[in-house]
Amino acid sequence: MAQLLLIEDDERVRSALLRSLRDLNHQVASASDAMSGLRAAVDHRPDLVVLDLGLPDLDGSQMLRMLRGVSDVPVIVATARDDEDEIVRVLGSGADDYVVKPFTAKQLDARIQAVLRRVGGAGPTDATVAVGPLRIDPRGRSAHLDGAALELSPKEFDLLHYLAARVGEVVAKRRLLTDVWDLPFGGADKTVDVHLAWLRRKLGETAQAPRFLHTVRGVGVKLVDPTDGGER
Ligand code: CA
Repeated sequence: MAQLLLIEDDERVRSALLRSLRDLNHQVASASDAMSGLRAAVDHRPDLVVLDLGLPDLDGSQMLRMLRGVSDVPVIVATARDDEDEIVRVLGSGADDYVVKPFTAKQLDARIQAVLRRVGGAGPTDATVAVGPLRIDPRGRSAHLDGAALELSPKEFDLLHYLAARVGEVVAKRRLLTDVWDLPFGGADKTVDVHLAWLRRKLGETAQAPRFLHTVRGVGVKLVDPTDGGER
């Protein structure tokens, strides 16, 4: 399915993951330390790197910075440390996602799919989305309302694009946390609420007088075409 590079020094973990990921139809190369991992990332040009943070030769954040110096490849870090600070640090150093050990190959695969979908190049999700007077261009990461550019933060943009691509569909906040924030193990619903509020302000509407963004109490939120009378 995808060309992966697994960088993991624990031989048992590495061979078990190699086997499982191959069973899931991925092509997997592997390395057992940071320096050979860096070399393999350059040589093999993988679609995605799974990086163990506890490597013998380099600290995880150092490794990420070096990797970012040579490649934009998406990275999922595997950490044994269920440590929020460490996770925040590596996400800040350029990791795209993380998994906390122990994890199953299936869980890792779900993360891999999600990251690849998110960073995915050409595909149907790159098409411009038009909802009434709203136009969203995922390639240019720009959005226009009535022809005027909206100044959106990256997350506001992702959220708007995600909802607009599913116009009329009620999306649960939990699903937004999984798909837009990549927090499959949950997070604060408040994160979604806050971003929705910011997005509403930029769209010139309020929760009390919604136009595009309609909250469905206890279920989630949907984006509708305000010019389509039948939609609501
Ligand atoms: Ca390790």
